[in-house]
Amino acid sequence: MKKYDYLIVGGGLFGAVFAHEMKKINKTCLVIDRRSHKGGNVYCENIEGINVHKYGAHIFHTNDKMIWDYVNQFVEFNRYTNSPLANYKGELYNLPFNMNTFYKLWGTITPSEAKEKIRSQCENLNITLPKNLEEQAISLVGTDIYEKLIKGYTEKQWGRDAKDLPAFIIKRLPVRFNFDNNYFNDKYQGIPIGGYNKLIDGLLEGIEIKLNVDYFEEKYELDALATNIVYTGKIDEFYQFRFGELEYRSLRFEHELLELDNFQGNAVVNYTEREVPYTRIIEHKHFEFGTQNRTLITKEYPDEWSLGKESYYPINDIKNTEIYKKYKILSETEENVIFGGRLAEYKYYDMHQVIASALTVTKKIQK
Ligand code: FAD
Ligand code: UDP
Repeated sequence: MKKYDYLIVGGGLFGAVFAHEMKKINKTCLVIDRRSHKGGNVYCENIEGINVHKYGAHIFHTNDKMIWDYVNQFVEFNRYTNSPLANYKGELYNLPFNMNTFYKLWGTITPSEAKEKIRSQCENLNITLPKNLEEQAISLVGTDIYEKLIKGYTEKQWGRDAKDLPAFIIKRLPVRFNFDNNYFNDKYQGIPIGGYNKLIDGLLEGIEIKLNVDYFEEKYELDALATNIVYTGKIDEFYQFRFGELEYRSLRFEHELLELDNFQGNAVVNYTEREVPYTRIIEHKHFEFGTQNRTLITKEYPDEWSLGKESYYPINDIKNTEIYKKYKILSETEENVIFGGRLAEYKYYDMHQVIASALTVTKKIQK
């Protein structure tokens, strides 16, 4: 008899949802994480009363009422709506691309004028089926917006030419012919009141968790503890990189506590020109409408990924997709290992998608 039904490698959202659902059906779980805290990338550190998103700004959004109700069981969400600004060489534009952006850029007043402007910028380019991010972006918003608000940001974020990136990345951003600055199209959106740690604490309540434990350093002993493994780390690492390393984009965060109450008047300001080395400045207090006397800002610098650095964004280009497929096929032969989450599935998942993915797996087990 093994001590646990499940050893869960990774205390991020996937691992926490999985553990919570198993507890409901009286399965025993041990969660381990190599970091010194639970929550994975949604972890926040409270500094001077401000919840600081330590691994990048996280805004919860979903169209799925079931997922929204699910997270609301654990924590109440505020009415925060993400409406970032783009700073291009000192000029400010509203995001996502909407009538406010078009007005600022071209002085267009009506949707027809804006559509005509975009059409005229695309007409001689012969883009029928966009093959890459550059073509996709230009066909959606024209060359002016591409040059000022997309190209520089994208190329520093990904460390690649926009022609070498998949088109789907830019389709994350809405293009609207109205004056709506909401970054997301989803019905439900907000920030957990009191921070994301409350969500994670709620999910992991009553579940055994060991921190600062790296699965690969004690694999033999850990595997012996449980009948099944749920693995939410990097899939290539699980297989000792036998088909090669999957590439990621990493990030570096610079946090500054400032002796002023309001630095930029908004939670997120993107810096879209290539020359500014960071992609965005986050002012965390605005996520929770904070009234503290001081403020904490974070500059987010894209970073070349190498082994040992945090793997933030999977690079879902053709080369890496081919490598991932090989790992995926191998993973399907495992009888007692479940692979889930952003790293194990090598997917550019948002939080609601990770939760949905974990619930799909647990529902099968619960049946
Ligand atoms: P993770 O949170 O990465 O958790 C995996 C855990 O496994 C980690 O804690 C890691 O330490 C642990 N682990 C890995 N290997 C081992 C090992 N060998 N041994 C022990 N432990 C191990 N989503 C949104 O919906 N809205 C947003 O605004 C948003 N913003 C984001 C901003 C940034 C900069 C990033 C990077 C992501 C953002 N996301 C956002 C996505 C969101 O972070 C993820 O969808 C979600 O947190 C992934 O959860 P996970 O459990 O799959 O992975
Ligand atoms: N993007 C851009 N300019 C911006 C914001 C985003 O060109 O001001 C592009 C960029 O390629 C980015 C992608 O849109 O990687 C997706 O942006 P999103 O805000 O969804 O990225 P995330 O929050 O996941 O970093």
